[in-house]
Amino acid sequence: MALIVAKFGGTSVADVERIERAAAKVVREVKAGNKVCVVVSAMSGVTNQLVGYCGEINKLHDTREYDVVVSSGEQITSGLMAMALQKQGISARSWLGWQIPFKTTDQHGRARITDVDAELLLERLNDGEVCVVPGFQGVTEAGRISTLGRGGSDTSAVALAAALGAERCDIYTDVDGVYTTDPRVVPQARKLKTISFEEMMELASLGAKVLQTRSVEIAMKKGVALQVLSSFEDHIGSDLPGTLVVNEEKIMEEELVSGIAFSRDEAKVTILRVPDVPGVASKVFSPLAKAAINIDMIVQNVAADGKTTDITFTIARADLERAIKTLEDAPDLEYEKLITADDVAKVSVVGIGMKSHSGVAEKMFATLAAKGINIQVISTSEIKISILVEEDYVELAVRALHAAYGLESGAA
Ligand code: ADP
Ligand code: ASP
Ligand code: MG
Repeated sequence: MALIVAKFGGTSVADVERIERAAAKVVREVKAGNKVCVVVSAMSGVTNQLVGYCGEINKLHDTREYDVVVSSGEQITSGLMAMALQKQGISARSWLGWQIPFKTTDQHGRARITDVDAELLLERLNDGEVCVVPGFQGVTEAGRISTLGRGGSDTSAVALAAALGAERCDIYTDVDGVYTTDPRVVPQARKLKTISFEEMMELASLGAKVLQTRSVEIAMKKGVALQVLSSFEDHIGSDLPGTLVVNEEKIMEEELVSGIAFSRDEAKVTILRVPDVPGVASKVFSPLAKAAINIDMIVQNVAADGKTTDITFTIARADLERAIKTLEDAPDLEYEKLITADDVAKVSVVGIGMKSHSGVAEKMFATLAAKGINIQVISTSEIKISILVEEDYVELAVRALHAAYGLESGAA
């Protein structure tokens, strides 16, 4: 007998019929002798609609109220899932984030889980009940509802699995595992049997939304066995049909490149002709940090004239307006001109094998050159190389790189 957390994403609970199908999988796990805690997302499209309503009232709305609104989608599916389980003869009960509680920080809209109290759920699970929990939501110290950022139900599920000491956390979604790249963009993408936490974390943070980055971070830290699998196929999690996210040591053969991620959620800012003197970078980036704008890639040119230089950096597209305003208002920051672009995208090549092999970057640049794709910014880490390109070229770049690194199914 194992204790399992089973999370169903938005498309897996998109309507009543799908909720009943998801419930049937839970029933099979229970009948196999397992204790199951279910985490549900909102029905697909619902969170987007709720976010839209908030924006219609006020683009700069109160984030506390935003959380009250957007957390509601998961409340609906929790109750419906419990009912569907009951209908199939299973004792089930739903518990909202504040009832458990899922304690979080007070950064509304992107709160982080600080503690999950497993006591109540463990008691119920030991009594033979299936517990249903809404993903994405928690409660702050002040007792207000919070949400964990888009895609946050993955993080709820993993944090819960860690708190319960679960044997496994199954993430049921609309693809049957983690692929070498988004299979919706590259149909030849290959499903991975296993992927290391480190690589999965890079892929997620670079745009592969199959798992929220924070969920992988917690799974790695707490040693949660994590599986991504399809809710539309006949298997259940205990058949282990999906992709297992595991420790690096468990990967038999380290691929040079294991995956390609991309993100359209990018914007580029260039500040022309700032004085090339100590302290300028701080004058640029301190006000942005104070405005809670995360900076991703940064390039500073050499000062060709010995006096001024240009600084380029990238941020999330949603932060562009605020970044412009922040820089325009920055105290004693001198520059000639601010140039911005929101039609850019980031493409990243990820692989643990890069730690010990060279030539990955060279192949990336040659492949893009052959397709006539201009690279605007480059950044690297130990296991990834990212480049910024014009958004129109993102899919072409991903397909070309996927082929160049031999990642297609059927390739060696
Ligand atoms: P859910 O609603 O179940 O949480 P998401 O839409 O958040 O599902 O995540 C699943 C989606 O992630 C897939 O439909 C796929 O398009 C996308 N995706 C991006 N990169 C990858 C990848 N490398 N492997 C698998 N899916 C990926
Ligand atoms: N419903 C939330 C969202 O769409 C959380 C999730 O599905 O993971 O972002
Ligand atoms: Mg998701």
